[in-house]
Amino acid sequence: MIPRFMPYLDREELLVILDRNKFAVSRFEEEFSCLFEAKYAVAFPYGRSALWALFKALGIENAEVIIPAYTCVVVAHAVVLSGNIPRFVDITLRDFNMNLSQIESALNQRTRAIIATHLFGYPLNVDLLQEIVKFAEQRWGNKIWVIQDCAHAFGARWNGKLVCNYGDAALFGLNISKLITSVFGGMITTNDSELYSKLRGFRDKHFEQPNISKGLRRFLYLLMVYFAFDRRVYGLINLLEEKTPFLNRLTKAYHLDERIHFPPDYMEQMTELEAKVGLVQLRKYSEIIDRRLAHAQYYDKHLRNVPGLQLPPLVEGATYSHYVVLVNNRQILIKELLRRGIQLGNLIQYSIPHMTAYAKYARDQSFANSYICSRSAVNLPVYASLEDTLRARVVESLRVTAAILGTD
Ligand SMILES: *Cc1c(COP(=O)(O)O)cnc(C)c1O
Repeated sequence: MIPRFMPYLDREELLVILDRNKFAVSRFEEEFSCLFEAKYAVAFPYGRSALWALFKALGIENAEVIIPAYTCVVVAHAVVLSGNIPRFVDITLRDFNMNLSQIESALNQRTRAIIATHLFGYPLNVDLLQEIVKFAEQRWGNKIWVIQDCAHAFGARWNGKLVCNYGDAALFGLNISKLITSVFGGMITTNDSELYSKLRGFRDKHFEQPNISKGLRRFLYLLMVYFAFDRRVYGLINLLEEKTPFLNRLTKAYHLDERIHFPPDYMEQMTELEAKVGLVQLRKYSEIIDRRLAHAQYYDKHLRNVPGLQLPPLVEGATYSHYVVLVNNRQILIKELLRRGIQLGNLIQYSIPHMTAYAKYARDQSFANSYICSRSAVNLPVYASLEDTLRARVVESLRVTAAILGTD
């Protein structure tokens, strides 16, 4: 079975359990900011807690926050749970990012922040965004905070420059499905010393120190993940996954549930153990990205002429956290490939303003592209450990099943 995603782990990440060194969280922050060329980094238990804390620390409240209609739903949760109002903007089908020509009409005197998501690793046009924001700040007379959501786009570049260093701050997610992982965890980077002290101060005052049992639970989880992705057992796990909420619970199902809520431990700070795993992963970062790029290029070359597949663009500076193609008959395709031992992902299978919990924020707009993606996006395996022979098998299987994809 070829899994839909796989964290890039080996024994080194497990051996951190023997590492008695202290201050791993601060070391992780330091090395993280170094790698992504930011002045400061602040670690959190989840990406969503980081975003929530950022709104709180900056005193952004009862304001409108612009976010893409098609993104991870936890972003919208962070907006609502921090006491703000999400204002959705539709995406483009070209690179799955927010359509900047529609942002103008979403901006108003209540807008205090924009979450600029670089979805699936594709850099958003940060130069154009900056111009739009500057103009809007003058027009409405308020500061508008620009937060780069780099959860899919660690190290993505626009015109050769890291997108995470544009705007006021950048958000990273570090759960096991991300480009690099610290088991769970999130990070904010910034070059603004005042923002840094506020955020850091807020975290240290309000977030609880994790107890020993949390470290242990995280380690067991990591151990489980490590063995679950062993190719010899993954097929079995996948069976279990279909029958039980085992892995689904971690990667998929929590996105599907319709309640606006956070996990109960969202204010329990990142554990030392997680930071140590993160430190190991940082060192593998470029290896991971290089491999993903190679996979994306391979798919691009070999799937070009397969009818019924709408391929994503090859974009300079993209990091390919996911390689997402649009298809008709998604469920049939997923089933057919699973029969051939290949698991396709459908990572974001919702359009947030179409969800019941968020309908009241949709303002009668249609978010047509977001809806299309929610129905027809599948992602192919692009993880660093995917062997060349296996990705060739993915291509081969897609070619022979092309007939059932249909065309439009
Ligand atoms: C994963 C993710 C986050 C953060 O998620 P957490 O699970 O809370 O760490 C934020 N934005 C996007 C687009 C993501 O995919």
